[in-house]
Amino acid sequence: MTQPASSPNRSAKLLKGATGDWEIVVGMEIHAQVASRSKLFSGASTEFGGDPNSHVSLVDAAMPGMLPVINAACVRQAVRTGLGLKARINRRSVFDRKNYFYPDLPQGYQISQYKSPIVGEGDVAVDVAPGEQIIVGIERVHLEQDAGKSLHDQSATESFVDLNRSGVALMEIVSKPDIRSADEAKAYVSKLRSILRTLGTCDGDMEKGNLRADVNVSVRRPGAELGTRCEIKNVNSIRFIGQAVDAEARRQIEILEDGGKIDQETRLFDPAKGETRAMRSKEEAHDYRYFPDPDLLPVEFDQAFVDEIAASLPELPDERKARFVSEYGLSAQDASALVAERATADYFEAAVKHEGRARDAKIVANWINGDVAAFANTSGLEVSQTHVTPAQIAGLVDLIADGTISGKIAKDVLAIIVNEEKDGDPRAIVEARGMKQVMDTGAIEAAVDAILGANPDKAAQAIAKPAMLGWFVGQVMKQTGGKANPQAVNDLLKQKLGV
Ligand code: MN
Repeated sequence: MTQPASSPNRSAKLLKGATGDWEIVVGMEIHAQVASRSKLFSGASTEFGGDPNSHVSLVDAAMPGMLPVINAACVRQAVRTGLGLKARINRRSVFDRKNYFYPDLPQGYQISQYKSPIVGEGDVAVDVAPGEQIIVGIERVHLEQDAGKSLHDQSATESFVDLNRSGVALMEIVSKPDIRSADEAKAYVSKLRSILRTLGTCDGDMEKGNLRADVNVSVRRPGAELGTRCEIKNVNSIRFIGQAVDAEARRQIEILEDGGKIDQETRLFDPAKGETRAMRSKEEAHDYRYFPDPDLLPVEFDQAFVDEIAASLPELPDERKARFVSEYGLSAQDASALVAERATADYFEAAVKHEGRARDAKIVANWINGDVAAFANTSGLEVSQTHVTPAQIAGLVDLIADGTISGKIAKDVLAIIVNEEKDGDPRAIVEARGMKQVMDTGAIEAAVDAILGANPDKAAQAIAKPAMLGWFVGQVMKQTGGKANPQAVNDLLKQKLGV
């Protein structure tokens, strides 16, 4: 596989070992549950949370003589995903049997795609930090069945099997080994999730297991050949993905520096202990005895089918980010933060355009990415899920713009909306609570005179050293309850002190 050229800031990501620097190399296989009402080869429901074995057809239970029938909706979703990942769409793909024994896989094999996947190579642009973007190559996306679930915690002496998940459609999205740190791994999965959610092809709910990552980690000396990798199975949160990459890289470095070698194996990440542990030695592809499933014809479609899906694609996060920069003059960083969640980007546009009035998009973005995002974060919500509405943010920004309140008072108004008057109108809150900015120079002047009079020593110092003015501005603001216009205070002080 090809390696991307090292970018200059990547050298900063090397891990320090006892005997020198090490580079982390990560590739990922993401299993994303296809958003579809029925399963990949049967009409059974994919609904989450049903009673055990309540969504199981005879096909899912692998009764003898049952024949799978491909679900066209799942094929469309895979094509849509491939287009969103700027990947090659293979108009002919083949389903294979991947032979393996699991107690919760009654067929004795998984129907998957091996040599001829439905989607080929693509690219994902990933913003890792402000001003730092990497491109992660996509190797392939294939369709396959999910397995059922073994339940070992229901009884001391028995295990149970729930086949509700058996046969649910998954897209396995395989990246190239283009990721070089835990942060890059986290940013990649976040971006992928954002694209899938925008496309509507996977809901990305990691808590329900609808998006889970197998993380392949190896380490090497900078510039050396790829090292032996270990695969950490089924990591189900973005935070754990980062922790698993770091823990596994550290483990491998320790072994290599002690003169040992890495065994290729499948491991599990234990979030409680923050370490990975061996699960089984890694199988090679030939161990699975892949062969084309004789029950299924190859999947074939024409270019018109692909074109029709392409024509229905929504605006993707990268395109929306570019538009936010050109249309609203946002920084790439602000635009990135807004487009990470489609609903947050919608929220921003609703606030900017509320009631058809023009307002400063940059200021609107600052409020959403700053105070509203912080509030959402502490509540474990997305911005769009909080009770703060785009109309309220638009109202706040208008009050600052017309000089009714300062930015500082606006924070107080938002706090009132957050904690007390959930559907309060910002202008009404400001009126009712007397929070209007004091523009009246007479009132401000009285406050300035009082402070100067009470602090003659400091006034003398400020004449010699104008940087001291800030202290006086602070005192006047305090005295006026933060309502004085700071510029007016500053101007008056300068005038009175003659600086
Ligand atoms: Mn798989």
